[in-house]
Amino acid sequence: MNYQPFHHKYRPQTLNDLIGQNAIATTLTNAITLSKIAPAYLFTGSRGTGKTSTGRILAKSLNCVKDNKPTVTPCGECNSCKSIANGSSLDVIELDAASNNSAEGIRDIVSSTQFAPIGRRYKIWIIDEAHALSSAATQVLLKTLEEPPINVIFILCTTDPSKLGDTIISRCQRFNFKRFNNDVIVNQLEAIAQSEDINISYEALLLIAKHSQGGMRDATCLLEQVSLLSDNVTPVEVHQLLGTISEDNLFELLNAIALSKTEPIIRIIKQLYADGKDPLVILQQLLEFYTNALITLENPKSPLNTLTSTTTQRIKELALNSNTVLNHQQHLRSCETQIKFSRLPRVMLEVAILGLLVQPTEVKIPLSSNGTKSSPKTTVNSELIWTQVINLQTPTIKALLNQQTKLIDYDGETATISTPNEIFRQKVEANRFPIKMGFQKVTGKMIDIAIN
Ligand SMILES: [Zn+2]
Repeated sequence: MNYQPFHHKYRPQTLNDLIGQNAIATTLTNAITLSKIAPAYLFTGSRGTGKTSTGRILAKSLNCVKDNKPTVTPCGECNSCKSIANGSSLDVIELDAASNNSAEGIRDIVSSTQFAPIGRRYKIWIIDEAHALSSAATQVLLKTLEEPPINVIFILCTTDPSKLGDTIISRCQRFNFKRFNNDVIVNQLEAIAQSEDINISYEALLLIAKHSQGGMRDATCLLEQVSLLSDNVTPVEVHQLLGTISEDNLFELLNAIALSKTEPIIRIIKQLYADGKDPLVILQQLLEFYTNALITLENPKSPLNTLTSTTTQRIKELALNSNTVLNHQQHLRSCETQIKFSRLPRVMLEVAILGLLVQPTEVKIPLSSNGTKSSPKTTVNSELIWTQVINLQTPTIKALLNQQTKLIDYDGETATISTPNEIFRQKVEANRFPIKMGFQKVTGKMIDIAIN
């Protein structure tokens, strides 16, 4: 048998295999079982989330000739199933709208829908990248959907439904495909690795999952590529393939920053650049690191914390506080565009990172209440801070804080808020998070809140 890439070999074959999209699988299963098949479906969602695969599964389920009616368990063996799988079916036709977007092309489809399907069940058009159809082609399609021919089904797949227009969308049954979460991707990759006899660590699988940003196809392709790089895959090989820097290199750089050592910083950046790492990618990894560090520092048990215990320990050893993390992140973000467009990106990255060594930690006011930038101040009136924090809140919290609270102390680390009684203390307590975020926006610092 010819070699099949992993993302073909391991794509789901029945609705039951459709992991991570349970609501869609259940709805389509019921539609098939109850013979409630719509003339048009719209599958939306980001790339690699299973839209086209689901279109094919639906087509196979409807046209499989194992039974004398549609089935949720297509056999995969009959002529219909096989011809759909290898793209030779005359009844199930896939069309890439990005390259076939003319009105004539769609008219040809429409005229062909007048003929009965060869297999006497359904004629199914799977239109990929449907948002790329020209407006004339969309009009032709719309007219067809207004009076759909019998036994013809359109499955429109798109990453950008807003470009399709409400009139088309309103004539379709819509399904939104979610991005896969990291656990689902890691489980699927683990199963593939086992079946293909690939020796790969959990950390490497997690790294692939994170990099794929919810796209199973991208994750599966990466696993296949990295398996060709080494017979024992660790995060080092994954970083090598992605052009990103390894955790060891990242922490070497972070340690040098923490120690304010210029020479090692320059040396590490030069070495990474010589190894072919892109300065912009290094900056983006640092930005991502600071976001993860902030989550770990604020709430290590947060479900958003996806770091391993080893990485969490390494963050602790850097002795960072939330204030420093926010300042560093803010500074690096302000340098991102310069690095992106500079002819000397390595030099700009060095300048950006050395800039962290002189980052101020004093109180700043980055934003005023109306969202405009005000000049940074090194000393601030406490009452002024409190007014600005209140102004950033929703009307309900604003009224509560204005009428029932007083800021009685603020030392730059802790704000003490007094309330008239236990009832209001609890109401303020329930809004601790937005108040804390208000202080963070106004002062640039994560502070503690005491409520009396
Ligand atoms: Zn079949």
